[in-house]
Amino acid sequence: MNCILLGPPGAGKGTQAKNIVKNFNIVHFSTGDMLRKARKSDGVISELLSSGQLVPDEIVVDIVKKSLERNGVERGFLLDGFPRNLRQAEQLDLMLKSKNVKIDKVFLIDIEFEEAVNRIAGRRVCECEASYHVTMLPPEKVGKCDYCGADLVQRNDDEESVVRDRFTIYKKQTEPLIEYYKKTGLFVVIDGLKDEKGVFRQISSYIL
Ligand code: AMP
Repeated sequence: MNCILLGPPGAGKGTQAKNIVKNFNIVHFSTGDMLRKARKSDGVISELLSSGQLVPDEIVVDIVKKSLERNGVERGFLLDGFPRNLRQAEQLDLMLKSKNVKIDKVFLIDIEFEEAVNRIAGRRVCECEASYHVTMLPPEKVGKCDYCGADLVQRNDDEESVVRDRFTIYKKQTEPLIEYYKKTGLFVVIDGLKDEKGVFRQISSYIL
């Protein structure tokens, strides 16, 4: 099973991606996670991430290409946060064609802006990549990661003004992918307002 997960900031892509890859034993490719690692040694990437801007296509495509090579695609995979615009989608098509691999499903987790802002405002993350919400998914001990005990922090691109910019970028750059993937017949809309289990149930019903 090879799938793509689309959705605006705050839709719960990261949470659902983790559920999907665990339950269906496929590989998780998250460009957001890859770029958060890369930002530690790259000031330009760091600045773009902090301001909620997209990282240039050449950089992201190169990172994805290398990651696909390194991890392999045989077991099946989930692309989370990639592609983010039409150019990336076309590059992805070329990459997959060269490997003779096809996408089986494209999921869009749909959610309105106000709900997204509410969710993101409460999001807290750990450097081990665990993610929490102060009310919806709180850690056992306030401010500490359940897995490694480290301090939880707010991502700096989760501040409200940055979330607004990320949403605008999503509307302009990423939403055109909906039409692109609708034409393939692989596109499925998931109601992102349901709780975590409800969203996962909907997604699972499309995964054979
Ligand atoms: P995410 O974790 O998917 O919300 O991504 C966090 C940030 O990483 C985004 O706001 C962008 O700055 C950057 N990013 C992630 N994926 C991409 C992509 N496919 N193209 C460009 N920038 C990306």
